Amino acid sequence: MVRETGYYDLLGVNPTASADDIKKAYRKLALKYHPDKNPNEGEKFKLISQAYEVLSDPKKRDLYDQGGEQAIKEGGVGGGGFSSPMDIFDMFFGGGGRMHRERRGKNVVHQLGVTLDEMYNGATRKLGLQKNVICEKCDGYGGKKGTLEKCSNCKGRGVQIQVQQIGPGMIQQIQSMCPDCQGQGERFSAKDRCKVCNGHKVERKKKILEVHIDKGMKDGQKITFHGEGDQEPGLEPGDVIIVLDQREHPVYQRQEDNLIMKMEIKLAEALCGFKKTIRTLDNRMLIITSPPGQVVKHNDIKCIQNEGMPVYRDPYEKGQLIIQFMVEFPEKHWLPVHMLPQLESLLPEREDVMISDDMEEVDLEEMSYESQRRSYSGEAYEEDESPRGGVQCQTQ
Ligand SMILES: [Zn+2]
Ligand SMILES: [Zn+2]
Repeated sequence: MVRETGYYDLLGVNPTASADDIKKAYRKLALKYHPDKNPNEGEKFKLISQAYEVLSDPKKRDLYDQGGEQAIKEGGVGGGGFSSPMDIFDMFFGGGGRMHRERRGKNVVHQLGVTLDEMYNGATRKLGLQKNVICEKCDGYGGKKGTLEKCSNCKGRGVQIQVQQIGPGMIQQIQSMCPDCQGQGERFSAKDRCKVCNGHKVERKKKILEVHIDKGMKDGQKITFHGEGDQEPGLEPGDVIIVLDQREHPVYQRQEDNLIMKMEIKLAEALCGFKKTIRTLDNRMLIITSPPGQVVKHNDIKCIQNEGMPVYRDPYEKGQLIIQFMVEFPEKHWLPVHMLPQLESLLPEREDVMISDDMEEVDLEEMSYESQRRSYSGEAYEEDESPRGGVQCQTQ
């Protein structure tokens, strides 16, 4: 039992989550709350990053599970203190080239929702992005060459200082970026300024990227477009990184290269055999057979070789298609009572029960799921330890 769940709650995972679950949760949340996408959620972005930093490190996670946030703050591991959320983000999404960070623009990460069909068959998706491109008219200079002059508003300092009276005898100095020159200290006069970019040196342009989804690509896989990030004079542009986000499929679940599906069969089919069809993700029809004489039990699992997902970069190889059978029992009173002996005569024989006078006769009632839920609430993780601990019958 863990001491606190705060970090787990931040990532929306269970304390029993695997390292993979934690990675996936961080990926989705970090992309959602990154300041580029959600400028007002900086605090949330930071908290998610801290939770991930602790939970992704087995040593720190252990420490947290035992001693909670207090133990982490006291810095039992690596002197404590959190890395910057941006560093964690860059490391996770493969910012790479950290040595050259100064001379490179930042990377932009986008999430792309992809269907399982697209990952099975391969696909090309067009993605329209808005990005800064160096102004062609002024070549990124911002105006007529040699006409740059010192900003008169900030006298070339790039910042302006405002003095505010906040109480009797108390003043506050607020320093902010000079709005006239955008903190540059220099500016073009209106007549010399480039008319295309309005002196900003770059323009916002739409760029279409063709994203090739190869057969067998996985949820969370990254596709990098080198140098397609925002352009800025004097900087090498960063990369655009597309992260695939696999959408849920109504029939198939994916587990690495295997596909998993549930199949309902009737009781007659379970006992007497069946033929069933399955539509594959590339629209072929497969026929599966359970011959007479076979019995398929509820929750039985069978597999078909080479009908799973294609293996990335080796698409002629495929994983397994795993089928979990769900036997559908008939509803009550499906057979007139007088016919039951006839059915029973065909079924495996039942065992006789010895009954004696010192035994107690009790009622068998329908179980109420409501009272079951009620007794579970409160201790969220007790479930794992005693799955049937709180089951109760409805009292009338
Ligand atoms: Zn221009
Ligand atoms: Zn200025």
